[in-house]
Amino acid sequence: MADFLQRWQQLNWDDITLRINAKTARDVEKALNSPKVGREELMALLSPAAAAYLEPLAQRAQRLTRQRFGNTVSFYVPLYLSNLCANDCTYCGFSMSNRIKRKTLDQQEIARECEAIRAMGFDNLLLVTGEHQTKVGMDYFRRHLPDIRARFSSLMMEVQPLAQEEYGELKALGLDGVLVYQETYHEGSYRQHHLKGNKQDFFFRLETPDRLGRAGIDKIGLGTLNGLSDNWRTDCFMMAEHLLWLQQTYWQSRYSLAFPRLRPCAGGIQPASLMSEKQLVQTLCAFRLFAPEAELTLSTRESPHFRDHVIPLAITHVSAFSKTQPGGYADDRPELEQFAPHDGRTPQQVASALQTAGLQPVWKDWDQFLGRAPQNI
Ligand code: SF4
Repeated sequence: MADFLQRWQQLNWDDITLRINAKTARDVEKALNSPKVGREELMALLSPAAAAYLEPLAQRAQRLTRQRFGNTVSFYVPLYLSNLCANDCTYCGFSMSNRIKRKTLDQQEIARECEAIRAMGFDNLLLVTGEHQTKVGMDYFRRHLPDIRARFSSLMMEVQPLAQEEYGELKALGLDGVLVYQETYHEGSYRQHHLKGNKQDFFFRLETPDRLGRAGIDKIGLGTLNGLSDNWRTDCFMMAEHLLWLQQTYWQSRYSLAFPRLRPCAGGIQPASLMSEKQLVQTLCAFRLFAPEAELTLSTRESPHFRDHVIPLAITHVSAFSKTQPGGYADDRPELEQFAPHDGRTPQQVASALQTAGLQPVWKDWDQFLGRAPQNI
């Protein structure tokens, strides 16, 4: 069966960039009034010309979000199992060449983390690791997944790309969702930022969501790290193409999208293109119109002020009080962390900010009552 690679080969980065930049105010108005937002309309809504239409764009996005998802916002929280990594990515503190303390949680430590997370109210967990196939690979996942799954009603993973059969095996152990961000769809930029390890294989990563779809994983998460390539608009449009492909091919799965931003920081790499907060709002709202049923997530990388304002417009899933180091919930040790989150509010503080905006926080993604009883796993 064909996969997204064939579609990606037909897409011309420069041509898409030119077409987005050529969109006019008239194209944006047409897109905003169009009952169905397709490729051309999305290009208009992502274009520089759409910056002047943020208000009507946000209003339509908010209406669609409420129609499709009601007044709810779901919470999830990442559990970092390990900061070991066999890759070198220019933008990440876990890179193998960085001299930081390395730690992989054992069974007891995982249990303590799960208890601390449950005590905060979360029932939807995202397992995160660096990418270390030998030390934190299938054997490790087989050993620990069933215990973790028994404590949470939904379980997602953000780890190294795996084979289709491996995803099938993890699904049988209770895995519900997998996030695998392409980071950038521009092959040259990708090579520039992935210097060592298996992650250098652009194509293996690009084909991962197809393997997930074929393995019947319920939720598949896509993402671009905006700022890696020299045009975040084109990268986001490429992700839209990826989403369309997957939705048409693996229609049984749900899809979630994330738009983390690479921001300038002391000692870190400088973004090749800067996505401002306003441009992130524009992008999120444009995607809501393009894919009304897609889940849009916002992490604690963004500031409390920004999150409180943008969540009601288009966001369906948020993390809160994230610790980005192994063991961070039971025993906070910042020296092990991947990055310092920007929103450090407690889950209850984030929940009450949502309630003030008229939204209902939901602490789970699924309920056993709806047919995924642990005994069926
Ligand atoms: S981004 Fe992922 S693969 Fe790259 S160094 Fe960080 S943890 Fe490893």
